[in-house]
Amino acid sequence: MSDTRRIDLHAHSSVSDGTEPPHDLVADAKAAGLDVVAITDHDTVAGWDEASKAAAEFGVTVVRGLELSCTRGSASIHVLGYLVDPDTPGLQPELTAIRAGRTDRLPTMLAALASHGMPLTEEQIWAQAGTADSLGRPHVADAMVAAGYVVDRQQAFDEWLAEGKPAFVNRYAPDVADGVSLISRAGGVPVLAHPWGRESRPALTEELIAELVDLGLAGLEAHHADHDEQAETDLVALAGRLGLAVTGGSDWHGTGKVGHDLGSRLTDPADYERLLGARMAG
Ligand code: AMP
Ligand code: ZN
Ligand code: FE
Ligand code: FE
Repeated sequence: MSDTRRIDLHAHSSVSDGTEPPHDLVADAKAAGLDVVAITDHDTVAGWDEASKAAAEFGVTVVRGLELSCTRGSASIHVLGYLVDPDTPGLQPELTAIRAGRTDRLPTMLAALASHGMPLTEEQIWAQAGTADSLGRPHVADAMVAAGYVVDRQQAFDEWLAEGKPAFVNRYAPDVADGVSLISRAGGVPVLAHPWGRESRPALTEELIAELVDLGLAGLEAHHADHDEQAETDLVALAGRLGLAVTGGSDWHGTGKVGHDLGSRLTDPADYERLLGARMAG
């Protein structure tokens, strides 16, 4: 019998910059007709327990993952890490350091916004972030929307928060080779998130990706909304040449990102089995 499972391996909850709690992520995955969904919050595993409980409630398989912030030179690169052992020595200190960098840049961002006539307090940002473990630029965007400075997150990024815009502030993240190694060492499965979306494209040459394969890289998220058709085709071919699995993920952020509905990008069950299926999630 053919395997028709619908598998989405990239989604965020309100534990980072998604808008819905982990429980609702899983409920929404069920409503979207998914059989498998991965919770991949930025630089934290704080949503895993709630999502795993909801997995049983809704009969959806939840893959425990995270999206690790990395860099190469000045480029930002995201690495999805599935099924890492969160107690691996060195993992939590690194995640804590990355999250500290997310928070530490806030005063500089707010000074930049104030200098452009958009004063905001840290309290206003935390009011948007709520109980999030991992603070992100989307929370700053939400505070800008609440203050009436912009109409939505997208305008906040396009005009102020995106790389190269006036309120962009760099933050700490490990080099991508160290990030891939860390996930491997933690018993996890590293996959490059949206490798040819935005600024990571020039950095992620075939040569660098081949080096990452030697460090344990297992897949490329070719099917992602930030890729045009040509990029998807070329990434699938590249994955074939390097012996990597191909994945797809919606990068759902609840109502925080348009064009990223749950299930809008899927992973082929054969690729899923190759990557994760044998060591299943709860
Ligand atoms: P941060 O984690 O603070 O670096 O913010 C990165 C997050 O902001 C990404 O995961 C996306 O959810 C969102 N984001 C980044 N760049 C853009 C952009 N140009 N437009 C809209 N959202 C973006
Ligand atoms: Zn995000
Ligand atoms: Fe990402
Ligand atoms: Fe993401």
